[in-house]
Amino acid sequence: MAQIEVYIISSENIDRDTGIAKLSGPEAHHLLRVRRGKAGDQVVLIDGAGNAWHAQVALVSKDTAHLTLLEYFENWREPPVQVHLGLGVLKKDRFTQALELAVALGVYNVTPLLTRYVVASWSDTRSERANRVAVAATKQCGRGYLPEISNAKPLHRWCIEHKDFNHKLLLSTDGEKLPYLGMGDEIALAVGCEGGFSEDEEEWMIENGFTPVSLGLRRLRSEAAVASILSQIMSQVE
Ligand code: SAM
Repeated sequence: MAQIEVYIISSENIDRDTGIAKLSGPEAHHLLRVRRGKAGDQVVLIDGAGNAWHAQVALVSKDTAHLTLLEYFENWREPPVQVHLGLGVLKKDRFTQALELAVALGVYNVTPLLTRYVVASWSDTRSERANRVAVAATKQCGRGYLPEISNAKPLHRWCIEHKDFNHKLLLSTDGEKLPYLGMGDEIALAVGCEGGFSEDEEEWMIENGFTPVSLGLRRLRSEAAVASILSQIMSQVE
């Protein structure tokens, strides 16, 4: 009997009352055709809201599979802090890379930020693509929660929306070391686009409670900065 991980980014077909999950469409195709799943196989089901189940394939037909839920897990492979990342809008491929890294490293949600030095535009098409990238990255890394990718918004609005967070961090070469974080903390994390933040923007963020955090002497690309700070945060709390 094989142990397979299958990721369902919808909780609609997982019935906790009956203890049965029904897979159809792309998820069934993945289990039955790509992974060659069959009755008796053990599967890990994930719903994208942080929940996971060990389950067993009970019944298969051409394009559907019924699974029996066995054991339930809360916050499956999720960190004990929520990182809300505000990332200056990057060119398409760079944004995709940053997003894949952020999702795999445990980010809670991502907001593309419109800042002074942003040159790339944001659109509904980019939004849809970003959400598809997040789904694929969530499945790839096997975490339980699917991070939400918001529409782009102005830097100032995003900062004000996070004004009550206990940690508000701004990545800047002029910053200090990452402060000590506590379990359950909510962290707003601002990272600049290719051109960085302007001096005015950094000053305004600091006046509004953001702490500048440095990643060292060398200037990193935005996607490397995202990966580096999230690794530091997760190694502190996980
Ligand atoms: N020309 C920009 C400048 O000099 O600020 C470079 C911006 S860098 C490509 C993009 C973003 O990554 C920065 O706005 C900052 O948020 C983050 N970053 C890059 N290197 C960093 C470092 N060593 N420490 C802290 N943040 C860094």
